[in-house]
Amino acid sequence: MASSTAPNHTVVVLGAGFAGVPMAHHLLKRTPANVANVRVILVAPNDAMFFNTASPRGFLPVDADSSTNAKGTPGYGDDRLFYDLAPAFAKYNAGGAKRFEQLVGRATSLDPDNQTVEVKLLAGGEVQTVHYDTVIIATGSDMTDGSPFKIVSHGGTAETKAALAAYRAQVKMASTVVVAGGGLTGVEVAGELGSVYGSKVVGGSAPAAPKSEKKDIVFIINEPLPLGVYGAKDSVRQTVADRLDALGVRTITNTTVTATSPSPSNPKKTVLTLTDKAGKTSTLETDVYIPAFGSTNNTGFIPEKMLDTSTKGRRRVRARKTLQAEGYDNIFVIGDVLNLIGPSLKNVTEQLEVLAPNMQAYLKNWAASQSGGAKNGVAAAPLKDYGVSDTIVLAASTGPAGGTGQMGSMKFPSFLIWFFKARYLGTDKAQEYANGNRTAQNSKW
Ligand SMILES: Cc1cc2nc3c(=O)[nH]c(=O)nc-3n(C[C@H](O)[C@H](O)[C@H](O)COP(=O)(O)OP(=O)(O)OC[C@H]3O[C@@H](n4cnc5c(N)ncnc54)[C@H](O)[C@@H]3O)c2cc1C
Repeated sequence: MASSTAPNHTVVVLGAGFAGVPMAHHLLKRTPANVANVRVILVAPNDAMFFNTASPRGFLPVDADSSTNAKGTPGYGDDRLFYDLAPAFAKYNAGGAKRFEQLVGRATSLDPDNQTVEVKLLAGGEVQTVHYDTVIIATGSDMTDGSPFKIVSHGGTAETKAALAAYRAQVKMASTVVVAGGGLTGVEVAGELGSVYGSKVVGGSAPAAPKSEKKDIVFIINEPLPLGVYGAKDSVRQTVADRLDALGVRTITNTTVTATSPSPSNPKKTVLTLTDKAGKTSTLETDVYIPAFGSTNNTGFIPEKMLDTSTKGRRRVRARKTLQAEGYDNIFVIGDVLNLIGPSLKNVTEQLEVLAPNMQAYLKNWAASQSGGAKNGVAAAPLKDYGVSDTIVLAASTGPAGGTGQMGSMKFPSFLIWFFKARYLGTDKAQEYANGNRTAQNSKW
């Protein structure tokens, strides 16, 4: 219960993903009552947390008995992928306290000098101006082509669920499924599809479909081997390629999908134009096309002067190691939108361990400043620096049975990937994550 003598402080958290959800909980749970009456306004188009790291399994129909296979289930439904946020945060408003508010919409404009953010609500499109004392920017990234590996940019939870449901229905009926993009997302969705429908896995360890339901699973990558974008070792990349091949996934290398159009003979099918490294084009007709490449950082509402417009920065927010935005002490940045390091859940997890104590120190300093602390000789609590580490940590699952990966120069064996990732894709911890009891690594959040 907050102290009535503590000053009021409104923190607006923009984004309800892996970064925003635990930060909103942390502020409400951990801010000492004598420091500040913290009120949190969580702004995001999704009213449920989307466990997007498990989304590759969400493209497969949920039509088999998951209890028969200890290594995983063929497809994940909404119940494994989406976790309602209202019940997870209700505890902070118990007894009539008004400490938490959820605005289901997108930030459309941030005014850092007037400390306001405009939010366009998803229902009805009304624009609300919200005043903040402090803002945390955790708006992450969207898939450029809108495929539902992230919350879709034209909607929120319902639209993302609908997009996944449409894919599940199409995949079920398809003879050919094409996945394009040789990063982690492409590898993982190709692995999931191959594990169930690939041409070589009848009777294998994955919950494979009967022979009559086999499909041509095609994986198109614009390099000789997958995962080049992360600088992974050749042996790791080769193992990924071999595992997909063993599942019956047909990989087309050194090739890019350069155009798509509905098939003239059947508008339900898609004709892909493929261009190889030599510039030679060909076409491929498919029942289902899953673009699994390209991301756009969600910073369109942030003033240009706050963005890192360098090629490496990719219009993410310029931040200091304390995770404060350059030029603004009351704006914090975390997750895929942070320009200090590449986007990954592993990085979010490490940033949370810095931002959480920094918010507490910052609020303490703020509360002291309200009562003339510095003038009274009270030393300001220091903020921690985020130690940017460029050690590669990569865990690629190729279906529920395992995968491969790398930490530094060490290659992960498949059983470790199965144990730590592939069997549940993190969903065994998802409800507790959404409830604010844990992060990916910290079970005492
Ligand atoms: C298929 C897939 C598998 C992955 N697997 C791994 C893995 O195994 N290991 C790993 O380390 N990383 C993995 N990643 C990367 C990881 O998912 C991201 O790094 C992580 O989601 C980043 O979290 P975030 O909270 O910063 O952003 P996001 O998860 O992108 O969440 C952003 C939030 O902000 C909301 N939002 C967007 N725009 C606005 C706006 N204008 N106003 C308000 N809210 C907004 C979104 O709806 C969402 O709620 C994977 C990614 C994908 C897509």
